[in-house]
Amino acid sequence: KTPKQIHNEPVKNFGPKDTKDWDLLRTSLMKFRSSSLEVPLVIDGQRVYYNENGSRAYFSQTNPANHEQVLANVTQATKDDIFKAIQSAKDSKQKWMNLPFYDRAAVFLKAADLIDTKYRYDMLAATMLGQGKNVFQAEIDCITELSDFFRFNVKYATELYEQQPAESSPGVWNQAEYRPLEGFTYAVTPFNFTAIAGNLVGAPVLMGNTVVWKPSQTAALSNYLLLTVLEEAGLPNGVVNFVPGNAVEVTEHVLNDKDFSALHFTGSTSVFKQLYGKIQQGVVNDLYKDYPRIVGETGGKNYHLVHVSANIPHAVLSTLRGAFEYQGQKCSAASRLYLPQSKSQEFLETLVGTLQQHQVLPTNTSASSLNGGDLHGFMGPVIHEQSFDKLASFIEEAKNDPELEIIQGGQYDKSKGWFVAPTIVKTANPNHKFMSTEFFGPILTVCEYPDAEYSQICELIDNTSSYGLTGSVFAKDREAIVEASEKLRYSAGNFYINDKCTGAVVGQQWFGGGRMSGTNDKSGSGNILNRFVTIRNIKENF
Ligand code: GLU
Repeated sequence: KTPKQIHNEPVKNFGPKDTKDWDLLRTSLMKFRSSSLEVPLVIDGQRVYYNENGSRAYFSQTNPANHEQVLANVTQATKDDIFKAIQSAKDSKQKWMNLPFYDRAAVFLKAADLIDTKYRYDMLAATMLGQGKNVFQAEIDCITELSDFFRFNVKYATELYEQQPAESSPGVWNQAEYRPLEGFTYAVTPFNFTAIAGNLVGAPVLMGNTVVWKPSQTAALSNYLLLTVLEEAGLPNGVVNFVPGNAVEVTEHVLNDKDFSALHFTGSTSVFKQLYGKIQQGVVNDLYKDYPRIVGETGGKNYHLVHVSANIPHAVLSTLRGAFEYQGQKCSAASRLYLPQSKSQEFLETLVGTLQQHQVLPTNTSASSLNGGDLHGFMGPVIHEQSFDKLASFIEEAKNDPELEIIQGGQYDKSKGWFVAPTIVKTANPNHKFMSTEFFGPILTVCEYPDAEYSQICELIDNTSSYGLTGSVFAKDREAIVEASEKLRYSAGNFYINDKCTGAVVGQQWFGGGRMSGTNDKSGSGNILNRFVTIRNIKENF
């Protein structure tokens, strides 16, 4: 039976008077700042470290707000380590899947409790320092969303197992038997949400599968901490095998194994397309026992569409948050904005004014915000140099393109951390590449449309990008809402009416999109769990 009280974990405020919370958080931040930690590989529960002679290397995970500061030395898996991790996932399978569901569920329910209590501040500190989040963004990721995933998955799994064939005729009993997939699962997890890593690993594991986990190098610290929490909660050795390392190499060995049975992925569209192609090739070449399940969530070019009837101050604030929270590094972030001409000036003046009033420009304040100073800084750094360079080059392109005008931001500074100012670019060309290319950073492109051409703009939004992840319409007029909802049917798996297009809550807004944004299997719902079971129908005659 599912525990009756499955609820969303409340977000802690970290208000000015919450001194105890701040003190505990500061202590954890100090701990991670004061010395670099060692993040090993974990294969069959054994820790494996890099060695001095260099035959097994390491990668230094640094603080993106202060790239001089090494947070962790992350051991890199060798070819041999990868084979061992795969073998360990195979060897641990039988024992894990044969545990009653109750016992598998208990590990996740206990881990959720440990995250909310004993490890809350360590989880926050590791995510804030390692992935460049302010305290609010860390709290809604590695605490509330993560423990929500673990608890709600238990609830959804219980409901799934209860689904049985409706009919049994006299003398016949029909049953559906849910088994984990026959082989092992490969989880490839992103830097931007510790919670997503937890779910990409946790969902298949809860259903009785074992996993080879390739974490993002730039989230290794928080991800390793999460693994140790799962271990403390009772996860047996070998069920999850943690192998940071060269993505291409890890992937190649995993996808060449005949027992590879599922990919659970969040990351870039281009990498997902490659993996998708490789797996299909493997199927064609009779490499695998099964048709591997492919579950992926990738990028987006998510829109905010404002109708002339919209509540403008509300739409402005939602846009500011949707586009710039966590520096726009959410797959769901708003990155194209459509404004009706008659409201555009008011909208943009308020948006720019609010950005300036909140002093969100990335200055040393933001750097210090992640170093023990003002932890409420709205924006922090982008994740790494590669991302910084890419964003800087888009900004330079905007400066030199006569079709684009930067109306806010445009600065970037890497002297201390990877800081890019929240940047708003205006264009009169709705088909400009800035309206269709994903930047994965704090750049929002805006385009005006004549008020009377709302219908046409809905069609244009639908045709402009190959993605289909999130989108929002802001309007009071019900017909305008209906029109957007109908015309934009496939351009957002998460469609918001009068709300920002980010911040899906587990169990409330099932998350995921179609088109080139992913397989739309909806994390935070029961659907995703279905992908990690194989069903046997049993008919018995009495
Ligand atoms: N689920 C997150 C949201 O709704 C985004 C997830 C992602 O960036 O992949 O904002």
